Amino acid sequence: MKEACGVFGVYAPGRAVAQLTFDGLHALQHRGQESAGMAVGDGEAITVVKDMGLVTAVFDERTVSCLPGHLAVGHTRYSTTGASTWRNAQPVYRSVGGAGFALGHNGNLTNTAELAEAAGMLPGVVASDSDLVAELLAASAAFSEPAADGEAAPGAGLEAALLEILPRLRGAFSFVLLDATRVMGARDPAGLRPLCLGRLGPAEAPEGWVLASESPALDIVGAAFVRELEPGELVVVDGDGVRSRRYVDDGAVDPHLCIFEFVYFARPDSRLYGREVHGARRRMGELLALQAPADADLVMGVPESGVPAAEGFARASGIPHGQGLVKNRYIGRTFITPNQSARAEGVRRKLNPLRENIAGKRIVVVDDSIVRGTTQRAVVRMLREAGATAVHLRISSPPLMWPCFYGIDIPSEEELIAARSTVPEIEAFLGVDSLAYLSLDNLVAAIDAPGAGFCTACLTGEYPVPVPRPAEVAAARTTA
Ligand code: SF4
Repeated sequence: MKEACGVFGVYAPGRAVAQLTFDGLHALQHRGQESAGMAVGDGEAITVVKDMGLVTAVFDERTVSCLPGHLAVGHTRYSTTGASTWRNAQPVYRSVGGAGFALGHNGNLTNTAELAEAAGMLPGVVASDSDLVAELLAASAAFSEPAADGEAAPGAGLEAALLEILPRLRGAFSFVLLDATRVMGARDPAGLRPLCLGRLGPAEAPEGWVLASESPALDIVGAAFVRELEPGELVVVDGDGVRSRRYVDDGAVDPHLCIFEFVYFARPDSRLYGREVHGARRRMGELLALQAPADADLVMGVPESGVPAAEGFARASGIPHGQGLVKNRYIGRTFITPNQSARAEGVRRKLNPLRENIAGKRIVVVDDSIVRGTTQRAVVRMLREAGATAVHLRISSPPLMWPCFYGIDIPSEEELIAARSTVPEIEAFLGVDSLAYLSLDNLVAAIDAPGAGFCTACLTGEYPVPVPRPAEVAAARTTA
């Protein structure tokens, strides 16, 4: 599974906004490593710098210091629609009648084809759903309407264009945008992907405002967390402060935050629905230990996302927690793993066992999810070679059985091992003594956000927002 993207925006006169954006994007690097970019505005010009690669590869001190301005948006990308090419790197920029705007998108629209067709676009004209949104905004009649005071201010119509276009979009989106004078953020009516607001400076005299996919990006630039954007909300930040607008009726708002943000995607130090992700992951492990105990001498997590749940499992079971695998931190998530055998080889390059901790022991291995099973199979083999006498695999989420249409790269049903195999078959494939998954009820209980709505479509097949292939999904559901 791969994350979608990370977005960041800042409005802060007197601050080095390019440096803040660099720092914010760096904190969001885990959400996308294919390309990075930022658009910086100084009230007159907007400069966009973007390229393929990690944030630190795209930007150096010189580039960042050459981007003066007081407002900026930034993006880290993992491609889920559109190819991984420079053209698709974001922010996307459009010039409209002498004014310009830039847009960064996290998520995936589900009605891209219908929107393109309705707009009379020929196939291939737009390279991605983000590109399509930029085209629709630029083409909106509202964009060129004069501002409320009658002045035809550059870019005055971006807010009006958003109010016209956003209600027509379906699927997952957290956008950051800027024009000459404003930074904006918008979240889809289901709130599938996160977006939060932070404040620079004291509450009584704010010095600027920040938007970010995850709260650690606020922490790292010294911004205080204010709140998560509401699903269906458009936030506009300018010299007058922060304004909130609703672009859909309340009846159309139906919160379904991606539950895998808690399981895997978000940083452990992120706060979502008012809960710190690390604590939720630890509770997942605690409930897993109660739901599926195992006789063992050591509990270990698969680095790094399985570690908090392993801590919880150990705490609830009383079995000592220890490190069994060392991860090469410098390999990163970009490692190219085109097929099963290359993926298994990739695991060996990334993880190495601590033999003294493992030899002669019965081990509980905790991981966050199983996609194809290739990683876990290689890990289990590695542990047995290092002398483990038993390996019990515990997964801190339910079986992954359905594709994601909302911006997370999950393989097709055929490739998802849980969609085509029973638990005993998976145990045999992985070579484990036992396998158990956390139940959905326990997963929701571990997050402990009463009343909060979640998307669980890849676990249940129940898609909260209509998906583009309902017939195929229904057919897959009946055969799974
Ligand atoms: S389908 Fe799964 S990965 Fe996609 S948004 Fe829903 S919960 Fe998240």
